Amino acid sequence: MNYKNLITEIGNLKSLKNVSWFVCGFSTLNEPIYCFHVGNKSGKQVFMEGGIHAREYLSTLFLIEEIKYLSTKNLDGGFYVVPLVNPDGVRLVLDGYDFIKCKKHKEFLKIINDGNDNFSLWKANILGVDLNVNFNAEWGKGAQNKFCYASESFVGFYAESEREVQTLINLAKILKPNISLSWHTKGEVIYYGFYKLNKNELERDFNIAKELSKINGYKVLSTGQSVGGFSDWAGINLKIPALTIELGNNNLSHPLTENSLTEVFEKNKDIPIKTLMLI
Ligand SMILES: [Zn+2]
Repeated sequence: MNYKNLITEIGNLKSLKNVSWFVCGFSTLNEPIYCFHVGNKSGKQVFMEGGIHAREYLSTLFLIEEIKYLSTKNLDGGFYVVPLVNPDGVRLVLDGYDFIKCKKHKEFLKIINDGNDNFSLWKANILGVDLNVNFNAEWGKGAQNKFCYASESFVGFYAESEREVQTLINLAKILKPNISLSWHTKGEVIYYGFYKLNKNELERDFNIAKELSKINGYKVLSTGQSVGGFSDWAGINLKIPALTIELGNNNLSHPLTENSLTEVFEKNKDIPIKTLMLI
């Protein structure tokens, strides 16, 4: 799998029956970020995003398969799906840094990757900001947060500093979905429970997570003190249930590849439709 293959697969979704699409924003390196809609635009809407952490591109592969699967169903309601939030970061993981034209940018990336020019474990965007700690939801208060450029966990110099994060926020505010599912790897966990939510919201989200876990068999865990993620932001700002699903067996090493796709897809393919039924 290289970046070109991945982009081709995303492009192929545009011609599917029952699927529409638009460019919802652009990455730091000006790559388009696509949003797909599948199903019925009236009725309840589920928002899904993946590929926000670069090495977790299995979540993008899963969402590509999921859009194809959902397009064959007669749906009461619909899905807005952003399969690849962090195209530049995923390209770095899949292709290495030779595609970057600016020599100083390449040197910068190597320095913050601890001198290593193998980027297969990279999580951040192409500026070394970890997008899933850049949202304005108790930003900068996480135990693992870093305050300088890094391959992971750097929160940025201020909340929502990154183009990819601004794209998701603008999109979600316009779409006003009824629920959000964020797809990551790994560990076979459904996370709920941003600590800033109130008791009723926590109970609501726990109950949804518990129902979904009956389908994929994943553990249900509270996010605890984790902050600054899209699910945290959506729970507080959109006042909707927002869960984070970690695909793939924890015994496998990052990055999880297309070799895990069949197993992950079979376990999770009915999660989105079940989610629509629960809201
Ligand atoms: Zn992740």
